[in-house]
Amino acid sequence: MTVYNFSAGPAVLPKPVLEKAQAELVNYQGSEMSVMEMSHRSSLFDNIIKEAEKLLREIMGIPDNYKVLFLQGGASLQFSMIPLNLAVGKKALYVNTGAWAKKAISAAKAIDGVEVEVIASSEDKNFTYVPEITKDMVDQEAAYVHITTNETIGGISYQTIPDVGDVPIVADMSSNILANNYKVEDFGLIYAGAQKNIGPSGLTVVIIREDLLNKEPIFSPMLDFAVQAANDSLYNTPPTYAIYIAKLVFEWIQELGGLQEIVKRDQEKAALLYDAIDASNLFISPVDKNYRSLTNIPFVTGDEELDKKFNQEALAQGFQNLKGHRSVGGMRASLYNAFPKEGVEELVAFMKKFEDENG
Ligand code: PMP
Repeated sequence: MTVYNFSAGPAVLPKPVLEKAQAELVNYQGSEMSVMEMSHRSSLFDNIIKEAEKLLREIMGIPDNYKVLFLQGGASLQFSMIPLNLAVGKKALYVNTGAWAKKAISAAKAIDGVEVEVIASSEDKNFTYVPEITKDMVDQEAAYVHITTNETIGGISYQTIPDVGDVPIVADMSSNILANNYKVEDFGLIYAGAQKNIGPSGLTVVIIREDLLNKEPIFSPMLDFAVQAANDSLYNTPPTYAIYIAKLVFEWIQELGGLQEIVKRDQEKAALLYDAIDASNLFISPVDKNYRSLTNIPFVTGDEELDKKFNQEALAQGFQNLKGHRSVGGMRASLYNAFPKEGVEELVAFMKKFEDENG
Protein backbone atom coordinates (compact mmCIF):
# COMPACT_ATOMS: atom_id res chain seq x y z
CA MET A 1 0.00 0.00 0.00
CA THR A 2 1.29 3.47 -0.84
CA VAL A 3 1.51 5.64 2.23
CA TYR A 4 0.92 9.39 1.93
CA ASN A 5 2.12 11.40 4.89
CA PHE A 6 0.00 14.50 5.55
CA SER A 7 1.82 15.34 8.78
CA ALA A 8 2.05 19.01 9.78
CA GLY A 9 5.59 18.47 10.98
CA PRO A 10 7.95 16.74 11.21
CA ALA A 11 6.77 16.18 7.69
CA VAL A 12 7.42 14.38 4.44
CA LEU A 13 10.88 14.89 2.93
CA PRO A 14 11.76 14.49 -0.75
CA LYS A 15 12.54 10.85 -1.59
CA PRO A 16 15.66 11.80 -3.62
CA VAL A 17 17.00 13.61 -0.56
CA LEU A 18 16.52 10.59 1.68
CA GLU A 19 18.10 8.35 -0.94
CA LYS A 20 21.12 10.63 -1.26
CA ALA A 21 21.48 10.75 2.52
CA GLN A 22 21.28 6.97 2.59
CA ALA A 23 23.94 6.61 -0.08
CA GLU A 24 26.23 8.97 1.83
CA LEU A 25 25.30 7.77 5.30
CA VAL A 26 28.36 5.78 6.35
CA ASN A 27 30.97 7.25 4.06
CA TYR A 28 30.54 10.90 3.18
CA GLN A 29 32.49 11.82 0.05
CA GLY A 30 35.21 9.25 0.66
CA SER A 31 35.90 10.44 4.20
CA GLU A 32 35.03 7.03 5.71
CA MET A 33 32.88 8.99 8.14
CA SER A 34 29.23 9.86 8.40
CA VAL A 35 28.31 13.54 8.53
CA MET A 36 26.92 12.66 11.97
CA GLU A 37 30.40 11.76 13.17
CA MET A 38 32.25 14.77 11.85
CA SER A 39 33.60 17.68 13.82
CA HIS A 40 31.57 20.79 13.23
CA ARG A 41 34.93 22.53 12.79
CA SER A 42 36.14 20.16 10.04
CA SER A 43 36.58 21.45 6.52
CA LEU A 44 34.07 18.92 5.20
CA PHE A 45 31.37 20.22 7.52
CA ASP A 46 32.42 23.79 6.86
CA ASN A 47 31.67 23.17 3.19
CA ILE A 48 28.26 21.74 4.07
CA ILE A 49 27.11 24.66 6.23
CA LYS A 50 28.49 27.25 3.81
CA GLU A 51 26.81 25.55 0.86
CA ALA A 52 23.52 25.29 2.77
CA GLU A 53 23.62 29.02 3.45
CA LYS A 54 24.59 29.88 -0.12
CA LEU A 55 21.76 27.79 -1.55
CA LEU A 56 19.18 29.24 0.82
CA ARG A 57 20.34 32.74 -0.10
CA GLU A 58 19.93 31.93 -3.80
CA ILE A 59 16.55 30.27 -3.41
CA MET A 60 14.99 32.99 -1.24
CA GLY A 61 16.90 35.92 -2.73
CA ILE A 62 18.29 36.91 0.66
CA PRO A 63 20.14 40.24 0.36
CA ASP A 64 23.72 40.63 1.63
CA ASN A 65 22.69 42.79 4.57
CA TYR A 66 20.88 39.85 6.16
CA LYS A 67 22.54 37.15 8.28
CA VAL A 68 21.41 33.56 8.00
CA LEU A 69 21.62 31.65 11.28
CA PHE A 70 21.25 27.92 11.86
CA LEU A 71 20.09 27.57 15.46
CA GLN A 72 18.36 25.13 17.78
CA GLY A 73 15.41 25.25 20.15
CA GLY A 74 12.70 25.29 17.49
CA ALA A 75 10.54 28.19 16.46
CA SER A 76 9.31 28.13 20.06
CA LEU A 77 12.64 29.38 21.42
CA GLN A 78 12.43 32.25 18.94
CA PHE A 79 9.16 33.29 20.61
CA SER A 80 11.39 34.30 23.56
CA MET A 81 14.71 35.07 21.86
CA ILE A 82 13.22 37.67 19.55
CA PRO A 83 11.72 39.94 22.23
CA LEU A 84 14.77 39.36 24.41
CA ASN A 85 17.12 40.58 21.68
CA LEU A 86 14.99 43.22 20.01
CA ALA A 87 12.42 44.63 22.39
CA VAL A 88 13.68 45.01 25.97
CA GLY A 89 12.78 48.54 27.06
CA LYS A 90 10.53 48.87 24.02
CA LYS A 91 7.12 48.07 22.70
CA ALA A 92 6.59 44.92 20.61
CA LEU A 93 3.49 44.71 18.43
CA TYR A 94 1.77 41.43 17.60
CA VAL A 95 -0.97 40.30 15.26
CA ASN A 96 -3.07 37.51 16.71
CA THR A 97 -4.07 35.09 13.97
CA GLY A 98 -4.40 31.88 15.95
CA ALA A 99 -2.70 29.20 17.98
CA TRP A 100 0.90 29.98 17.01
CA ALA A 101 0.57 33.75 17.19
CA LYS A 102 -0.91 33.31 20.67
CA LYS A 103 2.11 31.32 21.79
CA ALA A 104 4.45 33.98 20.44
CA ILE A 105 2.45 36.66 22.28
CA SER A 106 2.47 34.89 25.62
CA ALA A 107 6.21 34.14 25.42
CA ALA A 108 6.94 37.82 24.69
CA LYS A 109 4.78 38.91 27.63
CA ALA A 110 6.97 36.83 29.91
CA ILE A 111 10.12 38.80 29.07
CA ASP A 112 10.86 41.55 31.59
CA GLY A 113 10.88 45.03 30.14
CA VAL A 114 8.98 44.22 26.95
CA GLU A 115 5.67 45.96 26.45
CA VAL A 116 3.50 43.73 24.29
CA GLU A 117 0.59 45.15 22.36
CA VAL A 118 -1.75 43.13 20.16
CA ILE A 119 -2.66 45.50 17.35
CA ALA A 120 -5.06 43.26 15.45
CA SER A 121 -6.75 39.91 15.89
CA SER A 122 -9.03 37.56 13.97
CA GLU A 123 -10.35 35.93 17.11
CA ASP A 124 -13.82 37.40 16.46
CA LYS A 125 -14.25 34.89 13.63
CA ASN A 126 -12.39 32.03 15.23
CA PHE A 127 -9.16 32.85 13.37
CA THR A 128 -10.53 32.07 9.93
CA TYR A 129 -9.01 35.15 8.29
CA VAL A 130 -6.00 37.45 8.48
CA PRO A 131 -6.85 40.91 9.85
CA GLU A 132 -5.90 43.91 7.75
CA ILE A 133 -3.00 45.93 9.10
CA THR A 134 -2.36 49.49 8.04
CA LYS A 135 0.45 51.87 8.82
CA ASP A 136 -1.68 54.05 11.10
CA MET A 137 -2.20 51.06 13.43
CA VAL A 138 1.54 50.79 13.97
CA ASP A 139 3.43 52.82 16.58
CA GLN A 140 6.48 53.87 14.58
CA GLU A 141 8.61 53.73 17.75
CA ALA A 142 7.90 50.02 18.28
CA ALA A 143 10.71 47.46 18.05
CA TYR A 144 8.82 45.33 15.55
CA VAL A 145 5.48 44.00 14.34
CA HIS A 146 5.25 40.23 14.70
CA ILE A 147 3.16 38.22 12.28
CA THR A 148 2.65 34.50 11.72
CA THR A 149 2.70 34.20 7.94
CA ASN A 150 0.98 30.82 8.03
CA GLU A 151 -1.07 29.43 10.89
CA THR A 152 -0.35 25.71 10.74
CA ILE A 153 -3.39 24.70 12.79
CA GLY A 154 -5.96 27.22 11.55
CA GLY A 155 -4.87 26.99 7.92
CA ILE A 156 -4.76 30.71 7.10
CA SER A 157 -1.92 32.66 5.59
CA TYR A 158 -0.91 36.17 4.55
CA GLN A 159 -1.32 36.53 0.79
CA THR A 160 0.59 39.82 0.89
CA ILE A 161 2.81 41.39 3.50
CA PRO A 162 1.37 44.58 5.00
CA ASP A 163 3.07 47.96 4.77
CA VAL A 164 3.78 48.99 8.36
CA GLY A 165 6.10 51.90 7.67
CA ASP A 166 9.65 51.75 8.99
CA VAL A 167 8.98 49.32 11.79
CA PRO A 168 10.54 45.94 10.96
CA ILE A 169 8.23 42.99 10.43
CA VAL A 170 9.25 39.87 12.32
CA ALA A 171 7.71 36.74 10.84
CA ASP A 172 7.17 33.24 12.07
CA MET A 173 7.37 31.52 8.69
CA SER A 174 7.67 27.99 10.10
CA SER A 175 4.95 26.43 8.00
CA ASN A 176 5.21 28.31 4.72
CA ILE A 177 8.88 29.14 4.32
CA LEU A 178 9.96 28.10 0.79
CA ALA A 179 6.27 27.98 -0.20
CA ASN A 180 5.45 31.63 -0.85
CA ASN A 181 6.24 34.61 -3.05
CA TYR A 182 7.16 37.03 -0.25
CA LYS A 183 10.24 39.21 -0.58
CA VAL A 184 12.85 38.93 2.16
CA GLU A 185 13.35 42.73 2.00
CA ASP A 186 9.85 43.17 3.40
CA PHE A 187 10.95 41.62 6.69
CA GLY A 188 13.38 42.55 9.43
CA LEU A 189 13.56 39.00 10.69
CA ILE A 190 12.23 35.67 9.45
CA TYR A 191 12.32 32.50 11.51
CA ALA A 192 11.23 28.93 10.91
CA GLY A 193 11.54 25.54 12.53
CA ALA A 194 13.01 23.28 9.86
CA GLN A 195 10.73 20.29 10.25
CA LYS A 196 8.15 21.23 7.62
CA ASN A 197 9.72 22.55 4.43
CA ILE A 198 13.43 22.54 5.20
CA GLY A 199 14.53 19.28 6.79
CA PRO A 200 14.45 17.37 10.07
CA SER A 201 13.54 18.86 13.44
CA GLY A 202 16.33 20.20 15.62
CA LEU A 203 17.26 23.01 13.25
CA THR A 204 15.77 26.50 13.29
CA VAL A 205 16.56 28.98 10.55
CA VAL A 206 16.72 32.69 11.41
CA ILE A 207 17.21 35.36 8.74
CA ILE A 208 17.93 38.71 10.37
CA ARG A 209 18.68 42.13 8.93
CA GLU A 210 22.08 43.15 10.25
CA ASP A 211 21.00 46.46 11.74
CA LEU A 212 18.67 44.53 14.06
CA LEU A 213 21.51 42.61 15.69
CA ASN A 214 21.78 43.80 19.29
CA LYS A 215 24.68 46.10 20.07
CA GLU A 216 24.87 45.25 23.78
CA PRO A 217 25.45 41.64 24.80
CA ILE A 218 22.55 39.90 26.54
CA PHE A 219 22.93 37.60 29.54
CA SER A 220 23.26 34.36 27.55
CA PRO A 221 25.59 34.14 24.56
CA MET A 222 23.57 31.21 23.22
CA LEU A 223 20.45 33.40 23.12
CA ASP A 224 22.27 36.37 21.64
CA PHE A 225 21.71 36.86 17.90
CA ALA A 226 24.84 39.00 17.63
CA VAL A 227 26.99 36.23 19.15
CA GLN A 228 25.46 33.60 16.89
CA ALA A 229 25.98 35.84 13.86
CA ALA A 230 29.58 36.72 14.79
CA ASN A 231 30.33 33.00 15.06
CA ASP A 232 28.54 32.01 11.82
CA SER A 233 26.21 29.71 13.79
CA LEU A 234 29.23 27.84 15.21
CA TYR A 235 29.33 29.37 18.68
CA ASN A 236 28.62 25.87 19.94
CA THR A 237 27.92 22.59 18.16
CA PRO A 238 25.11 23.20 15.71
CA PRO A 239 22.65 20.47 14.61
CA THR A 240 25.10 19.21 12.02
CA TYR A 241 23.12 16.37 10.49
CA ALA A 242 19.94 18.46 10.20
CA ILE A 243 21.95 21.17 8.43
CA TYR A 244 23.31 18.56 6.02
CA ILE A 245 19.79 17.32 5.19
CA ALA A 246 18.64 20.93 4.75
CA LYS A 247 21.46 21.40 2.24
CA LEU A 248 20.22 18.38 0.29
CA VAL A 249 16.66 19.77 0.36
CA PHE A 250 17.92 23.12 -0.97
CA GLU A 251 19.77 21.30 -3.78
CA TRP A 252 16.56 19.43 -4.58
CA ILE A 253 14.64 22.71 -4.82
CA GLN A 254 17.26 24.18 -7.13
CA GLU A 255 17.23 21.07 -9.34
CA LEU A 256 13.45 21.37 -9.67
CA GLY A 257 13.81 24.93 -10.93
CA GLY A 258 13.90 27.03 -7.75
CA LEU A 259 11.28 28.72 -5.64
CA GLN A 260 9.01 29.86 -8.46
CA GLU A 261 8.61 26.34 -9.74
CA ILE A 262 8.07 24.96 -6.22
CA VAL A 263 5.40 27.55 -5.44
CA LYS A 264 3.66 26.81 -8.76
CA ARG A 265 3.53 23.14 -7.81
CA ASP A 266 2.27 23.99 -4.32
CA GLN A 267 -0.48 26.13 -5.84
CA GLU A 268 -1.54 23.32 -8.17
CA LYS A 269 -1.63 20.78 -5.36
CA ALA A 270 -3.60 23.06 -3.03
CA ALA A 271 -6.05 23.98 -5.83
CA LEU A 272 -6.82 20.30 -6.43
CA LEU A 273 -7.90 19.90 -2.82
CA TYR A 274 -9.69 23.25 -2.44
CA ASP A 275 -11.61 22.66 -5.69
CA ALA A 276 -12.69 19.26 -4.43
CA ILE A 277 -13.84 20.75 -1.11
CA ASP A 278 -15.70 23.58 -2.86
CA ALA A 279 -17.41 21.17 -5.25
CA SER A 280 -18.43 18.82 -2.44
CA ASN A 281 -21.75 18.79 -0.61
CA LEU A 282 -20.17 17.09 2.35
CA PHE A 283 -16.80 18.66 3.04
CA ILE A 284 -16.39 22.24 4.16
CA SER A 285 -13.33 24.47 4.46
CA PRO A 286 -13.70 26.53 7.65
CA VAL A 287 -11.37 29.23 6.30
CA ASP A 288 -12.11 32.50 4.50
CA LYS A 289 -11.27 31.93 0.81
CA ASN A 290 -9.09 35.03 0.66
CA TYR A 291 -6.64 33.72 3.23
CA ARG A 292 -6.39 30.04 2.45
CA SER A 293 -3.08 28.40 3.22
CA LEU A 294 -1.23 26.51 0.50
CA THR A 295 0.50 24.26 2.99
CA ASN A 296 -2.04 23.38 5.69
CA ILE A 297 -5.59 22.70 4.57
CA PRO A 298 -8.20 21.94 7.22
CA PHE A 299 -11.61 20.55 6.26
CA VAL A 300 -14.61 19.14 8.10
CA THR A 301 -17.92 17.45 7.41
CA GLY A 302 -19.67 19.33 10.19
CA ASP A 303 -20.44 16.04 11.93
CA GLU A 304 -17.84 14.79 14.39
CA GLU A 305 -18.85 11.15 14.01
CA LEU A 306 -18.53 11.37 10.25
CA ASP A 307 -15.13 13.06 10.56
CA LYS A 308 -14.03 10.17 12.77
CA LYS A 309 -15.29 7.64 10.25
CA PHE A 310 -13.52 9.47 7.44
CA ASN A 311 -10.27 9.56 9.37
CA GLN A 312 -10.47 5.86 10.19
CA GLU A 313 -11.18 4.83 6.61
CA ALA A 314 -8.56 7.21 5.23
CA LEU A 315 -5.93 5.78 7.54
CA ALA A 316 -6.78 2.26 6.39
CA GLN A 317 -6.12 3.44 2.81
CA GLY A 318 -2.65 4.74 3.67
CA PHE A 319 -3.52 8.42 4.15
CA GLN A 320 -1.52 9.05 7.30
CA ASN A 321 -1.68 11.98 9.73
CA LEU A 322 -4.81 13.47 8.18
CA LYS A 323 -6.56 13.89 11.49
CA GLY A 324 -7.05 17.57 12.35
CA HIS A 325 -5.15 19.14 15.22
CA ARG A 326 -6.55 18.08 18.59
CA SER A 327 -7.74 21.65 19.22
CA VAL A 328 -9.92 21.86 16.09
CA GLY A 329 -10.85 18.30 15.08
CA GLY A 330 -11.91 17.31 11.57
CA MET A 331 -9.18 16.79 9.01
CA ARG A 332 -6.07 18.67 7.97
CA ALA A 333 -3.95 17.93 4.92
CA SER A 334 -0.48 19.42 5.14
CA LEU A 335 0.86 19.71 1.60
CA TYR A 336 4.46 20.80 1.99
CA ASN A 337 6.90 20.96 -0.91
CA ALA A 338 7.87 17.29 -0.77
CA PHE A 339 4.27 16.06 -0.73
CA PRO A 340 3.56 14.40 -4.10
CA LYS A 341 0.73 15.58 -6.35
CA GLU A 342 -0.46 11.97 -6.77
CA GLY A 343 -1.18 11.91 -3.05
CA VAL A 344 -3.57 14.84 -3.41
CA GLU A 345 -5.23 13.26 -6.46
CA GLU A 346 -5.75 10.04 -4.56
CA LEU A 347 -7.09 11.86 -1.52
CA VAL A 348 -9.57 13.76 -3.70
CA ALA A 349 -10.74 10.49 -5.30
CA PHE A 350 -11.11 8.95 -1.85
CA MET A 351 -13.14 11.96 -0.63
CA LYS A 352 -15.52 11.63 -3.60
CA LYS A 353 -16.03 7.96 -2.88
CA PHE A 354 -16.63 8.67 0.81
CA GLU A 355 -19.15 11.35 -0.09
CA ASP A 356 -21.02 8.98 -2.41
CA GLU A 357 -21.23 6.42 0.34
CA ASN A 358 -22.02 8.76 3.20
CA GLY A 359 -23.35 12.02 1.74
N1 PMP B 1 5.17 28.33 14.70
C1 PMP B 1 4.43 27.64 13.81
C2 PMP B 1 3.68 28.38 12.76
C3 PMP B 1 4.41 26.25 13.88
O1 PMP B 1 3.67 25.55 13.01
C4 PMP B 1 5.16 25.59 14.87
C5 PMP B 1 5.22 24.08 14.97
N2 PMP B 1 4.21 23.37 14.46
C6 PMP B 1 5.87 26.35 15.78
C7 PMP B 1 5.88 27.72 15.65
C8 PMP B 1 6.68 25.72 16.87
O2 PMP B 1 7.77 25.15 16.31
P1 PMP B 1 8.83 24.25 17.09
O3 PMP B 1 8.13 22.97 17.39
O4 PMP B 1 9.94 24.15 16.12
O5 PMP B 1 9.19 24.98 18.33
